[in-house]
Amino acid sequence: MILVGDDPGSAIYVRNKKKATVECGMKSFGYELPADVPEAELLGLIDALNADPNVHGILCQLPLPKHLDEFKVTCRIDPAKDVDGLHPMNVGLLSMGREGPVSCTPAGVMVMLHRAGIEVAGKECVVIGRSNIVGKPVAQLLLKENGTVTVCHSRTKDLKAVVRRADVVVVAIGRAKMVTGDWIKPGAVVVDVGINRNAEGKVVGDVDFDSVAEVAGAVTPVPNGVGPMTIAMLLRNTLDAFKRAEKARAAAR
Ligand code: NDP
Repeated sequence: MILVGDDPGSAIYVRNKKKATVECGMKSFGYELPADVPEAELLGLIDALNADPNVHGILCQLPLPKHLDEFKVTCRIDPAKDVDGLHPMNVGLLSMGREGPVSCTPAGVMVMLHRAGIEVAGKECVVIGRSNIVGKPVAQLLLKENGTVTVCHSRTKDLKAVVRRADVVVVAIGRAKMVTGDWIKPGAVVVDVGINRNAEGKVVGDVDFDSVAEVAGAVTPVPNGVGPMTIAMLLRNTLDAFKRAEKARAAAR
């Protein structure tokens, strides 16, 4: 795990990921670099981790300080060790419906749906948000499972009317409690990815849980909904990367 700079939010995420990694019996190697680290030094560290056979997963916590090119850094990670599923090669595999490491939060959303016995096939699925980390990959995963998927964003006209059509709604906007009960079709499933701090400093989602819970068939809470799933999927991606590496090693013997 690579952490650049001293963003308190990122530091908490990395600490929680590190803790979970060790708890499940994996070894965690942490690298904390100063906010002004030269790009070449960060890329050099990634090269060294790419070459290290003891390392099966590499995560560089985003966002990075402005002087660093996130795309360049993401591309430098060996796709086989890209446990965040953000390398263009893995994003390409996902869009082609092929196996590969999938971005952790979207993968976690799908596991939640599966475990709750919610079928996506043939359903109207609406994703609010089109980021590379959440919105787009979750849309691809819903499509892969034969949902009829609509992706909404800040330019979508009459967002509420689009959301009201949905059987499954995944919300990843970054706006506290924006989606309220009157947006939701009765019985719909609502997954809240949002993590926001309200005026009192409390963590809240993008969904107004209380009003949505009155109409939805199911709704995920924030905190303790999608958040922990993200970390669980990071561990799963790392284990999968280890298994693939071992298989390749055995085949080469
Ligand atoms: P981004 O800011 O990258 O993307 C937000 C998306 O929401 C954009 O596509 C944007 O549209 C859209 N949007 C913004 N305002 C509106 C609006 N008024 N109406 C409709 N669409 C809107 O955020 P992320 O995808 O990275 O994250 C989304 C939320 O999920 C955040 O709260 C974040 O903290 C949380 N998150 C949670 C994780 C977890 O582990 N639970 C992991 C990652 C994120 P446009 O593209 O047009 O600008």
